[in-house]
Amino acid sequence: MDIDIKKNKSYKDLMQLVDKVKVMGVRTNAETPEDAAHGLHFGAEGIGLFRTEHMFYGEGSEEPLFLLRKMIVSKTEQERREALDELYKYVKKDIKDTLLVMKGRPVTIRLLDPPLHEFVPHDKDKLKQLSKELGISMGMLNRRVLALHENNPMLGHRGVRLGISYPEITEMQVRAILKAAAELIKAGKKALPEIMIPVTCTVNELSHQKEIVYKVYKEVCEKMKMKSIPYLYGTMIETPRAAIRAEHMANIADFFSYGTNDLTQMSFGFSRDDIGGFLPKYLDLKILPFDPFQTIDRDGVGELVMDGVQRGRKIKPKLKVGICGEHGGDPDSVKFFHKLGLNYVSCSPFRVPIARLAAAQAQIENPRK
Ligand code: PEP
Ligand code: MG
Repeated sequence: MDIDIKKNKSYKDLMQLVDKVKVMGVRTNAETPEDAAHGLHFGAEGIGLFRTEHMFYGEGSEEPLFLLRKMIVSKTEQERREALDELYKYVKKDIKDTLLVMKGRPVTIRLLDPPLHEFVPHDKDKLKQLSKELGISMGMLNRRVLALHENNPMLGHRGVRLGISYPEITEMQVRAILKAAAELIKAGKKALPEIMIPVTCTVNELSHQKEIVYKVYKEVCEKMKMKSIPYLYGTMIETPRAAIRAEHMANIADFFSYGTNDLTQMSFGFSRDDIGGFLPKYLDLKILPFDPFQTIDRDGVGELVMDGVQRGRKIKPKLKVGICGEHGGDPDSVKFFHKLGLNYVSCSPFRVPIARLAAAQAQIENPRK
């Protein structure tokens, strides 16, 4: 590895001290075994967010992306299941490689989140090529792509809503996660996946998906001849409603992870992709003191987090709660999350040392057991 910060004596001494003092955990957001290794190198204690969709972007994504597109344009459940069966081995490998690097540390794997239209090409030439590869007419492909169009995709058919509409997508992902863990354990390694459902707003979504998870769990245990496979089942808390209904969510979930990017977006009603048009003026005029997507807005979004933690822990006093939005690497926000009693923050690999230092400073400023 070309990052040799750990060889620096002052860094090493400081980090030793930091780890002695801090009580809140620091995990990393990672979507590849390389990211996971970087996070570990910087002292991450687990993965707080593994975005499963990452495998459909960038280098090496051609084959899985093609199969995902095949699944997206399927007309029937049968066709969709066939495409998912083909996709399964890529998903399992992706997860298994990361679980392996993490050597039994917790890995929170979030089920597919983005709206499906993000994965289909929109220019004519690429659509033509796809129609050839899939063996379907341009007319049919155009109709399917058009049907996926949404006016507000970030508030549209995404997150758990995909798993409710197409339970077979959840099934395939959960099978891949549990099978990957089971294979590692059978080979004498350790694995601890935490299955996480995104963009939930009602407990009924969580129980619907939990039934699928449990059905697949039984099936994988039987197939692998294992009495049990370790895993946790939890939810993102990233819609204001989920935060307000946290005690109900806690009945079903083993853990919460606050998605403060979406929670900020939905609380302010600011599209996180469009703040460039108005936020600079807001900051100039001091209408807002800082960018709430960088530093947590303690007065509003922070209140929602605090309230949700209290509600959740009323039902389950030991409920594991973390955060995996961008704020997990922002020192001021880390100190706030420490105060709220969160178990961990999760941030990009290179921000892990800063988050560790902020967690230690927070403990000195506001000691917590
Ligand atoms: C979030 O919303 O805070 C989050 C971590 O998820 P994403 O940024 O992928 O929507
Ligand atoms: Mg989100």
